[in-house]
Amino acid sequence: GREWHLVRRPVGSPGDGDVRLVEVEVPDPGPGELLVRNTVMSVEPYMRGRMSDRPSYAEPYALDAPMGGLAVGEVVASGVEGIPVGGRVRHELGWREYALVPAEAAEPVGDDLPASAHLGVLGLTGMTAHVGLLKVGRCRPGDTVLVSAAAGAVGAAVGQIAKAMGCTVIGSAGSADKVRFLTEELGFDAAFSHRDTPVREALAAALDRAGVGVDRGFTGGEGARGGGVDVYFDNVGGEQLEAAIRVMRTSGRIVLCGAISVYNATEPVPGPRNLLLMIWRRLRMEGFLVTDHEEERAAFERDMARWLRDGAVRNVETAVPGGIEAAWPAFLAMLRGGNVGKTVVRLAGT
Ligand code: NDP
Repeated sequence: GREWHLVRRPVGSPGDGDVRLVEVEVPDPGPGELLVRNTVMSVEPYMRGRMSDRPSYAEPYALDAPMGGLAVGEVVASGVEGIPVGGRVRHELGWREYALVPAEAAEPVGDDLPASAHLGVLGLTGMTAHVGLLKVGRCRPGDTVLVSAAAGAVGAAVGQIAKAMGCTVIGSAGSADKVRFLTEELGFDAAFSHRDTPVREALAAALDRAGVGVDRGFTGGEGARGGGVDVYFDNVGGEQLEAAIRVMRTSGRIVLCGAISVYNATEPVPGPRNLLLMIWRRLRMEGFLVTDHEEERAAFERDMARWLRDGAVRNVETAVPGGIEAAWPAFLAMLRGGNVGKTVVRLAGT
């Protein structure tokens, strides 16, 4: 089987010289282990962070060793009672064709939906949207919700969940086609391209199209909420975060989920210049990591199963064919915005 090794730590944008596709022996599972043939694997922005060796919440990838990431596969040999050959499991040993997975690291998943859905809306992607919007963002029916990287994996889930809750939803994305997708396919009330500059004007125009008036008075006062955005779900940071702070409603919540606009930065980046507005508008800004919220899993799975059944949410994905060799190019393309929804790579034989 083949697997992707990190051979050099990227500086700035990653490139082809940073990795190598390596052929290795397929091992036999010992007691308590499974040999899994991966059928689909995930490529995600946080992997860029793991390619660097600065301290972070996720372990840096080791050099000259296979990278890790979520994948779903089929058990081809089993040393584990209760998980038979032919079973489908989710685990964290992606970026390779065959994985030797310890029983405690394998999670059996159903086969009523395509395997990739367990990486997308039914996986950590969907759970990130759910936890971020509902628990951290305290989103309520009727709120006005703004989400960036809205045509991406997490963003598309956030927007669809917010629509399912009866919210007014505005999204930003990197192309006119994505903007059309958001309004025409996913039912967003308005969307704009973050490549239209200045971003703050494109955002103001989108809010107008969605019928959201923004209060510029700042007087607030007890009980007064003014107009504007109740929840901003931030996937990108940088200029869009600053533009969002400007249009928040009194007592609004800003959910810091990701900051992809700065993941390739080689120098520390400046923060928003308008934090004073957070005081005037009594805003709250909070970062979160989905992996800290295991206690929300049952609620997430229950809600998502209902939304999928109702058709309120669908698993939007870009499924890249071409087997394991396509995984690295798919990762690079995702970082540049080549995807709509969840990026997954179909491995050989699927
Ligand atoms: P996406 O599917 O959204 O893919 C990344 C997208 O980011 C691209 O499609 C691109 O879309 C956009 N993008 C790239 N560069 C820029 C830029 N300079 N400015 C604005 N947008 C840019 O990935 P995910 O849904 O997997 O992740 C979305 C965010 O959520 C990331 O920041 C990620 O790190 C974060 N995350 C956080 C988690 C947590 O627990 N806190 C868990 C999972 C993800 P476009 O064409 O629109 O530019």
